[in-house]
Amino acid sequence: MVIYVNELMEIKTQSPCPVCGESLYYIFYETKIAYEEEISIETYFCKRCLYKSNKISSQAGNEPKKINVTIQSREDLRIIIYRSSNGRLIIPEFGAEIEPGLESYGEITTVEAVLEKFLDKIDFMGKDEKNSEIFDEIREKILKNLKGDTEPFTVIIEDPSGKSRINSSKAIESSMEN
Ligand SMILES: [Zn+2]
Repeated sequence: MVIYVNELMEIKTQSPCPVCGESLYYIFYETKIAYEEEISIETYFCKRCLYKSNKISSQAGNEPKKINVTIQSREDLRIIIYRSSNGRLIIPEFGAEIEPGLESYGEITTVEAVLEKFLDKIDFMGKDEKNSEIFDEIREKILKNLKGDTEPFTVIIEDPSGKSRINSSKAIESSMEN
C-alpha cells in the first residue's frame, strides 16, 4: 500500500512506556493512502524498546454512494475493488452479501477473490434439506464464472462513507437514494 506523508509532528510526552517505563513520544501525521482519502495517524512510540501504539482515523467525509459494475467476461474478474470499512458488497444474482467489517481498514480485492470468498462461505455454512437446491445452484453458477464461462452478474457496493471504489471504466456511480 502506498502511503504519502504530508506532515509530521513529534512530541516527547510525560507518559511512561508500558513496557520499559521510558517517556513515550507522540507522533502525529496526516497522510494519503491509495484509494482512501486523507487519514491521520497518531502513534505513541518508545524510542528505547520500540513499543508502539497506533490510532488511525479518517479525515474526509464523502457523500454516500452506490457503485455497480456488470461482470461480462473473464477479464472483468480481475477488476480491482476497494471496499472501505463502511462498504456493503452485494451480488444480487448469487444472493451474496458481504457486510461492512469490524476492521478499521477496508480491503483491496478483486471480483475473482470476492467470488472465491463467497464460495468458501457457502461451503462453511453447509446446507440442510431445505436450502440444498439453492446452495447447489449458486455454487455451480459461481464455479462456472470462476472457470471463465461467464454468465453476466452485477457487483454492487453501497457505502455511506462514499470511499469505496471499483476500478473499471464500466463502473457506474450513483447516490444512495435509489
Ligand atoms: Zn519502552
